[in-house]
Amino acid sequence: MSTIAAISTGQAAGGIGIVRISGENAVSVADRIFESVSGIKLEKLKGYRAAFGKVKDDGKYLDEAVALVFRAPKSYTGEDVVELSCHGGLLVTKQVLRAALKNGAVPAEPGEFTKRAFLNGKMDLTEAESVMNIICAKSEQAKSAALTALEGTLYKRISEISGSLKGIAAQMAAWVDYPDDEIEDLSDERLLSSLENSLDGLRRLISDFDTGRIITEGVETAIIGRPNVGKSTLMNMLTGYEKSIVTSVAGTTRDIVEESVTLGNTVLHLADTAGLRETEDTVEKIGVDRTRKKSERASLILAVFDASEELNDEDEKIFDLCHDKLSVAVINKTDLEQRIDTKIIDKNFKNVVYISAKEQNGLEMLEKTVEKLLGTEGFDTSAPMLMNERQLICCSAAADSVEEAITALKSGMTRDAVNVSIDSAVESLDTLTGERATESVVNEIFSRFCVGK
Ligand code: GDP
Repeated sequence: MSTIAAISTGQAAGGIGIVRISGENAVSVADRIFESVSGIKLEKLKGYRAAFGKVKDDGKYLDEAVALVFRAPKSYTGEDVVELSCHGGLLVTKQVLRAALKNGAVPAEPGEFTKRAFLNGKMDLTEAESVMNIICAKSEQAKSAALTALEGTLYKRISEISGSLKGIAAQMAAWVDYPDDEIEDLSDERLLSSLENSLDGLRRLISDFDTGRIITEGVETAIIGRPNVGKSTLMNMLTGYEKSIVTSVAGTTRDIVEESVTLGNTVLHLADTAGLRETEDTVEKIGVDRTRKKSERASLILAVFDASEELNDEDEKIFDLCHDKLSVAVINKTDLEQRIDTKIIDKNFKNVVYISAKEQNGLEMLEKTVEKLLGTEGFDTSAPMLMNERQLICCSAAADSVEEAITALKSGMTRDAVNVSIDSAVESLDTLTGERATESVVNEIFSRFCVGK
């Protein structure tokens, strides 16, 4: 396999820029462009050793650098690796990379370092995919779920299930091939209960997928309500700082301001919107139309009402927008004297929360209600979790095959026939972990990575 090189740090000026070289000739390529101060050749260094020196291209001094040597298989890729940490300038790292390429390395494809780690058995596909998720994680929840997968939690769970299925298949094959031999008795009940166990495990992963998605990716949330009920103040309470314009003149929050906040264990992508007021003002009308669109697109609506005023027609329009949607009625300004008829709210909303955005009261109640509504309450991000559609599809295919096996067994079909379904379940799980993934699946996964990872 060729020796590859790429800039592994971000493409921006920074303190340090790293050029990574991996492959059989990584150390000799590095030795051609790096001269250590002590005069020692990197070739003489064991793994996990570093040397300080100069990077040169055809004798031209490019930069100072620290060369860090990793020896196969104890490296990220499982191959010999040299990392040259230079000064983090855009030009400097590019020049150092060019020098490596002139001296025997080829440019790494996107994700090629991680792909090699996978091909060299350093990690399975679920772990490799989680590397990308860590890089892209935008919330603590997303990162912690990705780290859990990187530790192999999902891989272990899938391997347990597929191991148990392989065990059943092997026993059944032996039973079919040598019916007269003394093979441990395989009653239909025992078979059924093992298969059902596997199916339960797969189903749990599948049913947790959506909740996991909510936790790792967050939920599009619209805060709606007529002007002046306190939407911007609520948003500020959630984001913790002044983002949208708060004012007591009705209809001044004209545009949609977006912000992501963490409410309990859930990330809400919030959009503060112009009030839902029918108006002649064209600028504001655009805002009003957007409110409708925004609430149509949102998966969760926080409908805000003013506790200190009676409900009016404008509020009732909000009821319609929330119909058939996951929504919470947020009754705000509870610090003021109450004039709102809460019975009408109760009739229109299953979830009602009382807050005072101004006095920052009621946030815990809102948090609990939202978590309950989204099913994220008590969700454990350290449990095995499917991370993407590809994994979900493999897991669902496996569950379908196990179900087929169960039906076949119950309807008295031959054990050979049952085994066909079990084999196909195992194949789907092997595709999930990458043990049997086709080259095109593997290439497709790694092509989504960035160069240098
Ligand atoms: P929006 O038009 O719905 O975004 O409403 P704003 O957030 O701009 O608030 C309108 C006015 O109501 C401002 O003067 C806020 O200070 C006030 N307000 C918001 N929340 C509360 C609250 O909980 N209690 C009281 N007393 N006033 C509030």
